[in-house]
Amino acid sequence: MQTSHDLERKLASIDRRGYPAYKSLRGRYDFRDFVLSIDHVQGDPFAAPSRVSLMIPAEVAGFPSELSDAPHRCVALEDTLCRRFAAEAARASFKVGGSGKSGLIATSGPGPEVLARSACEVSPAGITMRLEVGFPAHGRTVDARALDTMLFELVPACAERSLLADTGALAAARAAVELADDQHAVRCALERLGLVAFVADGSILPRATGASSQPLAGALPFQAPESLSITLDLPHRGSVRGLAIRRGITLIVGGGYHGKSTLLQALQEGVYNHVAGDGRELAITDSSAFKLRAEDGRPVHATNIAPFITNLPDGRDTRAFTTADASGSTSQAASLVEAVEMSSRVLLIDEDTSATNFMVRDALMEEVVAAEQEPITPFVERVRALWEQAGVSSVIVVGSSGAFFPVADTVVQMDCYRAIDVTQRVDAVLAAHGMASAATAGAEGAVWEPPRPRRLALDLGRGASSQRGRSRGRSRGASRGHDDRRPAKLKVQGLDGFSVGEHTVDLRQVEQLVEGEQTAALARMVRLVLERGLLDGTRPLPQVVEMVFRAVEERGWQALDETGAPGCGLALPRPLELAVCLNRWR
Ligand code: ADP
Ligand code: MG
Repeated sequence: MQTSHDLERKLASIDRRGYPAYKSLRGRYDFRDFVLSIDHVQGDPFAAPSRVSLMIPAEVAGFPSELSDAPHRCVALEDTLCRRFAAEAARASFKVGGSGKSGLIATSGPGPEVLARSACEVSPAGITMRLEVGFPAHGRTVDARALDTMLFELVPACAERSLLADTGALAAARAAVELADDQHAVRCALERLGLVAFVADGSILPRATGASSQPLAGALPFQAPESLSITLDLPHRGSVRGLAIRRGITLIVGGGYHGKSTLLQALQEGVYNHVAGDGRELAITDSSAFKLRAEDGRPVHATNIAPFITNLPDGRDTRAFTTADASGSTSQAASLVEAVEMSSRVLLIDEDTSATNFMVRDALMEEVVAAEQEPITPFVERVRALWEQAGVSSVIVVGSSGAFFPVADTVVQMDCYRAIDVTQRVDAVLAAHGMASAATAGAEGAVWEPPRPRRLALDLGRGASSQRGRSRGRSRGASRGHDDRRPAKLKVQGLDGFSVGEHTVDLRQVEQLVEGEQTAALARMVRLVLERGLLDGTRPLPQVVEMVFRAVEERGWQALDETGAPGCGLALPRPLELAVCLNRWR
């Protein structure tokens, strides 16, 4: 390996030369306490910044190994280090000037979710911190002095202040790992006790605004009704009381603007862990929970929606339903079947974002439109069988219809942001109307036949294959024996979606993606699926998803980047969301 002196010399030798001379700096350099690796050099001062990584050996960083001895701890430690480095980088950024992105030092700026990110990886060997550095330019020439300042002073100072255990980082890391331990303990308790979710008393569920992830100031803290509360014993916080949502069918009812959707939203985001201060630290949901909603206009590829929809007017086969433009009800049916195909155990549904005709049909309507004329079997008629025969629970927000009362196990009312258990009242109302409740009725007659996982075939498409044979400068076969085409072009539009070559995926209605970094990772995952030809009609979709996640687990973020330098800017999505992408692409 070259040393920092080599880098200094090289740098001095290219001062004031044309900007592309920076390319010669690519490589790894031993800085004694860490290794600095220049992984990718930007083409010009206005291009995407250069990718640099720091590798700090574990014995230099000094974090006790128990802070990373379980996956949830490791992610919490990485998350803390990433946030600390990002804060230091923001201060050090643009200390040196120049054109374009000259002087930029940055890494991921995470939101409130604690996710595995390419920005920071901790292994037994040490910490890898990936950053973006805007190599400074005088006009369009190399500014060696300025880059010298950045790489030899500013970046090492950021690392020293944020990534070494003796700088306050240790206390921050311990606190984060302890919180992660508690969150992990809650997740284990969900499993052990047969719960869908736990929402601790004192949680702050609403956000400051619809567009903010900050907690709402002055919000009423959550408080579980006595009859639905449990107390968990967590390793660090000790006894924590909160709402236990049991598996089965749970309704959230209440007047408009009383906090129903806010509770459901907390549940759908409870699949992720949140940082201290977020308010939802101990609002934790089964990590396979899927927010099911109508998404008219979405494409559907050969999904079996027959449990809900048969006899379409155009005679189309709904056992392998394909459309470029689904309706509200067909889209929601398809999304449900696809979530169950991916082994989701919990559906989260809000009437605000559901197709009414997918959810219920009332008796008067049945008198007018005969069952044979109506292609839809509404969800209310399947939800019980889905639970009893397939083990899929549902949490449903309904303010407008009592149709779900007879199939519900538990009914929670939100009343002025307060949760009340109204299950017994609902049962009394049902009894008064001579109707049975779920406890007595069961899913008579209704059957849930699990649709078979699909073996989709999706081809690479012209967008990607037209790149064939255009690769320059990379030796034949370098990328594990593949032909020498370049990767398909990726375009990522924040949380809205992405394109791979000519294919696009619209994610605007997919609610459980929380960061653009997840979308960026998904785009690369889809590219991997396409380039490896994994979706060739021979494997069930869940298996394809599993193969991708296994590749990432085994090879790290490198698995998603053939250059070997993934850079910062990728965050791990759930397998469910990769399936969502593979099910929605055009
Ligand atoms: P619903 O779905 O019942 O119509 P929402 O969940 O959309 O109601 O909540 C309505 C409003 O009340 C939102 O602006 C939300 O931020 C606010 N809100 C929700 N929960 C609380 C709370 N615990 N304290 C204060 N405001 C809240
Ligand atoms: Mg609502």
